[in-house]
Amino acid sequence: MTEPIYLSEPKFCGKEWEYVKECLDSGWVSSAGGFVGRFEQEIAAFLNVKHAIATVNGTAALHIGLLLIGVQPNDEVLMPTLSFIAPANAVKYVGAYPVFIDVESDYWQIDTEQMRRFLRDECHIDSGVLRNKLSGRRISAILPVHILGHPCDTDSIKSVANEYGLPVLGDATESLGAKYKGRPAGSLEEISCLSYNGNKIMTAGGGGMIVTNNDLWAERAKYLTTQAKDDPFEYIHTEVGYNYRMPNVLAAIGCAQLETLSRFVEAKRRIAEKYAVAFDEIPGIRIVKEAPWAFSTYWLYTILIDEAEFGMSSRCLAQRLAAQDVQSRCIWQPLHRSLAHEDSPQRDCPVADQLFEQALSLPSSVGLSSFNQDRVITAVIAAKESLR
Ligand SMILES: *Cc1c(COP(=O)(O)O)cnc(C)c1O
Repeated sequence: MTEPIYLSEPKFCGKEWEYVKECLDSGWVSSAGGFVGRFEQEIAAFLNVKHAIATVNGTAALHIGLLLIGVQPNDEVLMPTLSFIAPANAVKYVGAYPVFIDVESDYWQIDTEQMRRFLRDECHIDSGVLRNKLSGRRISAILPVHILGHPCDTDSIKSVANEYGLPVLGDATESLGAKYKGRPAGSLEEISCLSYNGNKIMTAGGGGMIVTNNDLWAERAKYLTTQAKDDPFEYIHTEVGYNYRMPNVLAAIGCAQLETLSRFVEAKRRIAEKYAVAFDEIPGIRIVKEAPWAFSTYWLYTILIDEAEFGMSSRCLAQRLAAQDVQSRCIWQPLHRSLAHEDSPQRDCPVADQLFEQALSLPSSVGLSSFNQDRVITAVIAAKESLR
């Protein structure tokens, strides 16, 4: 019997128990209490931004972020097709439509050239408003997603955004701890969103954050996430708000996890380095790259399997690994293929299609032991050798 090796397990090795006990002992477990404000301040300080507003999850943070930057019903928002579905769903929550842009093949992030081409060739300015020529809808924002712990090419996204006067909302939920040209992911856009879901690099058991330097947006984010309550005493509301605030007990866990985040980043990078050395020379495996301007957390270490050269598909390899009690995961179905978003403008995204076929994420838990990582590596190599 071998112990199963999971894809990404949380690790609690700091003051989690102490802080949670403080919440329970004091009775402050819900959406009021000291840890929420403290967690917000500590994340803001860590990212070197003015405001962080805690939310009940990352998807809720994206929903509010879209409202703040002014996305309206029937607008279109540009985002990468290769992403977890949450940001596309958030676009739908505000009544807008995601437009899925292909990713580039080196780092698998939104392809800025494709985005520029879409805006130049498939959109036009109609009475001062930038519109998709085919759908007639207004283009109102760009939503880059920094996937798998690697930051997007933020400067080139910004240059396109500036050229067309579009606001940028960043989804940094998978890349807390990463940096772009030395600046932390989560601080790179007008508004950035974070998640503390259980499989992220650090977790609060759930939760998210809206991060911004804009004072008015920060105030409005707090307002919208607390049912848009207008008066501190009276229950008076002039708008429909949301119950999106993070409970104090989750913030307590988050505070403790943040204290260990830098060790988690080091652990993920050490794991990535070891996989890179092990797989670099194996025919049919392509290892993930880190851009010269990037400091990646390698949140989920992901390899590409060329079926012809490796001798089996990524799915087949995943099954072989499962037989050895090693969990692995195929990448998300590209969103331009998703039935949930079939009413979005239809576009070809061949790079994402190929990545969908080839990508396989390997166990990357911050607590992954060297012994267990060797088991993963051996299982991958054994699968290939079994074919000879
Ligand atoms: C995890 C994640 C989110 C947010 O997830 P929640 O579970 O709502 O906190 C959003 N976008 C991406 C790309 C994610 O991976």
